[in-house]
Formats: sequence, C-alpha cells, structure tokens
Amino acid sequence: MFGSGLAKGLGITMRRLLAGPVTELYPYDHKVLTPASRTFLAMYVNEEGGPACKACNTCIVGCPDHVLRLEKDPDDNRKPLEFVVNSGRCTFCGLCVENCPYDALHFTPDYERATYDRGTLIYHLVHEGAHTGEGDEPK
Ligand code: SF4
Ligand code: SF4
Repeated sequence: MFGSGLAKGLGITMRRLLAGPVTELYPYDHKVLTPASRTFLAMYVNEEGGPACKACNTCIVGCPDHVLRLEKDPDDNRKPLEFVVNSGRCTFCGLCVENCPYDALHFTPDYERATYDRGTLIYHLVHEGAHTGEGDEPK
C-alpha cells in the first residue's frame, strides 16, 4: 500500500522518541555487568579459606600471553605460594578459566581498574586483593 513504509518508519521513530534515553550516566550510574563478562581474573577460595588453586600448572602452560606466574610451596606440591596475574598483558581470552581442572579461577564483573601505572595491574591472587609494582613480571 502506498505510504505504508513511511508510516512504519514514523512509528519506529515515535517509539524511540518516547522510550527514554539509552545512554548511561557513567560514572554517576554504575552499570552492573552480566556474570559472563570477562574483566579481571580472581581466584576462588577453598573450604579452608585458602586459595582453590592446586598448583597444577595447566593455566600457566596454556596462557598464550604469558600473563600468569605460579610459585609452588616447596613442602607441598599442590599448594601455591604465589599466583601472579599481570592483567596489563591479558587479552581476556578465558582459556585459563576454561582449562582449570579445579575451577579455581573466574572473572570478576569489576571493570573499574583503569590506571596510568602498568605496575598496578599486577595482582597476587593468593594474597587476596594484594598487588605490587615493578620487579614482579610473570616469566
Ligand atoms: S584470560 Fe587468556 S590471556 Fe588472560 S591470563 Fe587467562 S589465558 Fe592468559
Ligand atoms: S589450572 Fe587451576 S589449579 Fe592449575 S595452576 Fe591454574 S589456577 Fe591452579
């Protein structure tokens, strides 16, 4: 019918006009990301409150960007002393999370870690929340 395309287009325009803004007032309003978001790596804790990692090395070997470094406890081969993540190098491919046989790793929905200092993007997951700067690059 003549003019039906025009009417349809105007209908869509009117709907959009009345629907309200789609933009976010960031940083005043914080968007809650879906749990499937890939942001920063974190480690689960086990039943004893320690790191869930069993120091198996699977994620270290599989990481294509050499982001991770693991230091095992010399007295216990299945206990990590250090688990270092250099997030500045991470491409968030998710291979480490997918491949961990103990489901020790996960991504957090935290996206507000922008920094001018790359050193502050190095996280020590065994010591929850701790991170350091220079001299601690994963090998
Ligand atoms: S997400 Fe990918 S690049 Fe980042 S640490 Fe895991 S395996 Fe490496
Ligand atoms: S794959 Fe999992 S259990 Fe193995 S070293 Fe990595 S985080 Fe630890």
